[in-house]
Amino acid sequence: MKQVDFLVVGAGIAGLSSAARLARHGTTQVVEAEAAPGVHSSGRSAAFAHFDMDAWLVRALTAASMPLLAEPGATPHPALFIALEGQEAALDRLEANYREWEPRVERLAPAEARAFTPVLREGDGGISGALLDRHARKLDAHAMLEAHRKELLARGGELANGVPVERLARAGERWTADTPGASYSARVVVNAAGAWADPVAALGGIAPLGITPLRRTVITFDTEHAVRDWPFTKTVGPGFYLEPEGNGRLLASPMDEGPSAPCDAQPEEEDVALAAWNVEQATTLTIRQLASKWAGLRNFAPDRLPVAGFDRQAPGFFWLAGQGGFGLQTSPAMALAVEAAATGGPWPEELRAVGVTRAMLAVERLRTPPA
Ligand SMILES: Cc1cc2nc3c(=O)[nH]c(=O)nc-3n(C[C@H](O)[C@H](O)[C@H](O)COP(=O)(O)OP(=O)(O)OC[C@H]3O[C@@H](n4cnc5c(N)ncnc54)[C@H](O)[C@@H]3O)c2cc1C
Repeated sequence: MKQVDFLVVGAGIAGLSSAARLARHGTTQVVEAEAAPGVHSSGRSAAFAHFDMDAWLVRALTAASMPLLAEPGATPHPALFIALEGQEAALDRLEANYREWEPRVERLAPAEARAFTPVLREGDGGISGALLDRHARKLDAHAMLEAHRKELLARGGELANGVPVERLARAGERWTADTPGASYSARVVVNAAGAWADPVAALGGIAPLGITPLRRTVITFDTEHAVRDWPFTKTVGPGFYLEPEGNGRLLASPMDEGPSAPCDAQPEEEDVALAAWNVEQATTLTIRQLASKWAGLRNFAPDRLPVAGFDRQAPGFFWLAGQGGFGLQTSPAMALAVEAAATGGPWPEELRAVGVTRAMLAVERLRTPPA
């Protein structure tokens, strides 16, 4: 049986970014069920970083992460948030929330917004206003995963792919994890299994936190427009987002949230059709043929906030889950939080500076107090 200090279950962005930091403090092993890292949520994301996030905590974690999202993981790219007719109040709310973290954001009239995304329609269901963030970031999920993998290995940690954890048991002061080919004995187990966070906890007889996977659909299509410099363009309420994928290709999502079991998520035809419909309603684009389509699972705790902390019901069992639609852009700050919380170290200055405390991410808030 291999003895380690930290056993991290799951090689998505949460598991790998945290493992790279934990490896500074002890022997660290990551085990991933799939044949490679990032097969699930982390490899299927739109990979953008901005402050249009409902929860203050998520915006604060994003603020702490922005300076740490460095090359090769991120490049500056503008984001344009548009109000369709009837969404003006949501645009006002977004502007107020945004200014706390990015005061350089600019309010634009529809004609000014069209200078950035020229296909936006005005009037009759089209745009009525916009907010421009010139300092948002385009992320590269695979570059981020690879950078963390390399750092993990450089610090003496290990990653085993194609190794699903099938059994977890507490033995004395340690956890034993069984996989088809090997067993591990760990001081700390970090549950970074994304959509499978509750089922992985159940392997060790640990009560679920109610981590719920919600499917999100993405389509890509080619266009005759030169789109490379178009901003990430997103409606402030229901609608869609659009993002350039190179020069002649756009990526779009209808921002759907279909309930799903943890699985290899596939796009549903009606969500694919909705993506194309929502884009065509608000723009002059015509989507004749899709270049590709996919779906991924965004995983939410009941309060839609992330969790990073030990489970008092199960000593040595650490939850790292519920990264919803913000797991890439908050990963630098979350990895710092994991490093401090899992090793008992000082709370990081980067989190202190934005007002994020250990308690905000802790598990206790999700456990029903005993009657
Ligand atoms: C369409 C879409 C768009 C998104 N857009 C953005 C965006 O623009 N910006 C942003 O910041 N975020 C975005 N997200 C969210 C982001 O992708 C997620 O929050 C993030 O990837 C979650 O990472 P994770 O490591 O928790 O999960 P995952 O990447 O799913 O990793 C969990 C891993 O655990 C493994 N695993 C499960 N069970 C076991 C087991 N028993 N043993 C071993 N391994 C196991 C799985 O195989 C998986 O690889 C988007 C997500 C989707 C789906």
